[in-house]
Amino acid sequence: MKIICVGRNYAAHAAELNNPVPQTPLLFLKPDTAQLLDGYPLFYPAFTKDLHYEVEVLLKICKNGKHITPEFASDYYNQVSVGIDFTARDVQRECKEKGHPWEIAKAWNHSAAIGRFVPIEDVKNDTGAIDFSLTKNGETVQQGITSDMITSFDDLIVYISKYFMLLRGDVIFTGTPKGVGPVQIGDRLEGFIGKQSLLNCSIK
Ligand code: MG
Repeated sequence: MKIICVGRNYAAHAAELNNPVPQTPLLFLKPDTAQLLDGYPLFYPAFTKDLHYEVEVLLKICKNGKHITPEFASDYYNQVSVGIDFTARDVQRECKEKGHPWEIAKAWNHSAAIGRFVPIEDVKNDTGAIDFSLTKNGETVQQGITSDMITSFDDLIVYISKYFMLLRGDVIFTGTPKGVGPVQIGDRLEGFIGKQSLLNCSIK
């Protein structure tokens, strides 16, 4: 499986890091070795002093496809979860300054925490959107709603599949809302869709 991530898909988050909102979706990939499954701890990597959480809604691809058209896009996913796009913010800053790719800041071992998947139809709110949040040591640190996304789930499927063939089991990280911040050893992170806890991760 591969992990495809979308950067700057919420305007308020782009603004908090002084980034412009992109004209087209900003994509990067994480290898399958980046997976960290629900309940497993993350060991604080030695190469960073500024490890950040970014909570995101995840889509799981349920059907193989490329060059997917808008009218069929929603057939390619039926389960969602929450995940954390762990980011070595200091390393990312350096990469950006040098104009280098982001992988060493974002795609390292276990940098993609992936929650338990649930059927998308079970977790939409009354307006058809998904509310999601992250707590750190029991306090809410990030809260988002998918209706604030710049590029919708379906439009992401269309755009991504122009470049990368989607395969069953692939996971898409759909972008983080505002409120990203640092973690320390000993912190406990918990990700939610609505009130449902789908991801637990402690920092060791
Ligand atoms: Mg992210």
